[in-house]
Amino acid sequence: MQKIAIYPGSFDPLTNGHLDILKRALNIFDKVIVAVTVGGSKKTLFSGQERLDMIRTATAGWKRIVPENFSGLLVDYARKKKAIALIRGLRAVSDFEYELQMGLMNRRLSSRPPHKNPLETVYLMPDEKFTYLSSTLVKEIARLKGNVRDFVPKIVEEKLNAKFHAVI
Ligand code: ADP
Repeated sequence: MQKIAIYPGSFDPLTNGHLDILKRALNIFDKVIVAVTVGGSKKTLFSGQERLDMIRTATAGWKRIVPENFSGLLVDYARKKKAIALIRGLRAVSDFEYELQMGLMNRRLSSRPPHKNPLETVYLMPDEKFTYLSSTLVKEIARLKGNVRDFVPKIVEEKLNAKFHAVI
């Protein structure tokens, strides 16, 4: 049977750190659904559609990846998609506390009917060079006209520049 995982996140915007995690996830799972959260409480720079489009462009030609928008409860979405695990990236100890809480809550929520098996979370570490990279920092650098070329795919660099420094 196909082993399907879901990599959820806001991806506002996608960075090379996200892509690094995605590649590692593909070494373990047959298919990875990149679930771009929309309609949550988090205010985002890019719309759900924009974030999804950037991921589609940056991963064009990558087989076994399905980017989708998603809203609602993650455990319900995972059951619908027949996913057996969630993927999350761990950069530093500071990520750990929040991720542990989320992972345990998702497992708890999925441990009752109609769920069959508890939904486990697989935490992956990125290459060291991405451990200090975040979407928030990338947005700040781009806003201040810094160069983000080393940190994000080309399409994201273009969209950031268009968002912050479009000549009207
Ligand atoms: P969320 O709002 O759900 O945290 P993000 O897009 O910020 O969404 O992150 C999605 C996932 O990707 C999280 O598990 C986060 O830890 C991970 N992640 C983000 N940036 C990196 C990075 N540079 N290296 C590894 N993992 C990362």
